[in-house]
Amino acid sequence: DPGDAEVLDVPVVVIGGGQAALATGYHLRRAGMRALEDFVILDDARAAGGAWSHVWESLRLFSPSDHSSLPGWPMPVSKDGFPTAEHVRRYLAAYEERYAFEVRRPVRVTGVTRDEADGRLLVGAADVVLRADAVVSATGTWSRPFWPIRPGAAEFGGLQIHSVSYRNAAEFAGRRVVVVGGGNTAAQVLAEVSTVAETTWVTREPPRFMPDHVDGRALFDVATRRAKALAQGADVVPTGVSALGDIVMVPSVRAARERGVLVAEPMFDHFEPGHVVWADGRRAPADAVIWCTGFRPALDHLRPLRVRNAEGTVDTDGTRSVLEPRLHLVGYGDWTGPASATLVGVGRTAEAAVSEILEALEGRTSCA
Ligand code: FAD
Repeated sequence: DPGDAEVLDVPVVVIGGGQAALATGYHLRRAGMRALEDFVILDDARAAGGAWSHVWESLRLFSPSDHSSLPGWPMPVSKDGFPTAEHVRRYLAAYEERYAFEVRRPVRVTGVTRDEADGRLLVGAADVVLRADAVVSATGTWSRPFWPIRPGAAEFGGLQIHSVSYRNAAEFAGRRVVVVGGGNTAAQVLAEVSTVAETTWVTREPPRFMPDHVDGRALFDVATRRAKALAQGADVVPTGVSALGDIVMVPSVRAARERGVLVAEPMFDHFEPGHVVWADGRRAPADAVIWCTGFRPALDHLRPLRVRNAEGTVDTDGTRSVLEPRLHLVGYGDWTGPASATLVGVGRTAEAAVSEILEALEGRTSCA
């Protein structure tokens, strides 16, 4: 409900301030739209960088800088190997300055509703409402960490954290740590924590390691070939990235393999005080569990529009919500476009969103 808040009209509102929002801003600007007049980017973070401002200290990209760029302006070369999160954060900060996006921060969008009068979307924040012809939601997943609750969790008595809160291995030194998850985060956290702690790795399915030579560069090439084939309606579409495996063998993970710690157990069944317990009754003492079990898309602000499906995502045609044609989604995961949740891949989805928006805006103007 807009209530007494001031209502401002703006053609396009982008919600989020990470790489997905910035790539969208780039394509809006390229189409001749002006920041603050034709489009506004709202981010609830205090500073630039999106999720890259929050990841663990030792994180490095799994692709070199020349395969980690947003559209228009390449990421500066990182001097010592694959870029750090801080390198990416600085790049994003410089990127938004370069293109003068004037991102509004910190502005949390609390809800998006429809203007009953003409169907435009009302983007609500604490003391302002923006009325927009089109809204791009680019809020990522970082604020919605997911971890399954196991029976007995309340009695466990040890530390439980999600990877979202993991900074470095220091607090786990000398402890018995269970790392949960079969993806890159679990493998990298395990690799680091196992240098100072006794670790047990548990995964729901046996882990799928990629061949050693596959890095972000190779993954991007595979994703690109698939996206092109899909776009051209080719008879034979090459398999996607997931066919190669789930875990990229970055140097720290290869080193963990050499140390023999990269051996996964099945998922445990429940907790008992100080222990994790498997379905067959086997128990392991544990002081801490690090849940590297992923994220869900941060879409709470879209609740009033009732566009979310049973999986918690939004059904889309291109980037446009099937149920709300003024709403577009960029980033999040492959459901918004192949490799859309990567630095190098999000440009393609952002470009598609902007061309769909321009087409709709032109259509509406010419009807008026
Ligand atoms: P975010 O970066 O999360 O940005 C979303 C922004 O929206 C945030 O600033 C948030 O505060 C804001 N926001 C959220 N809700 C609201 C709201 N209601 N109102 C206003 N603002 C809001 N990708 C690669 O390309 N290479 C890699 O090597 C790589 N490694 C990764 C390693 C890890 C551990 C993780 C987690 C991801 C990695 N990724 C990698 C994936 C990907 O690049 C990131 O997930 C990326 O941060 C997604 O960008 P985004 O803009 O969609 O979301």
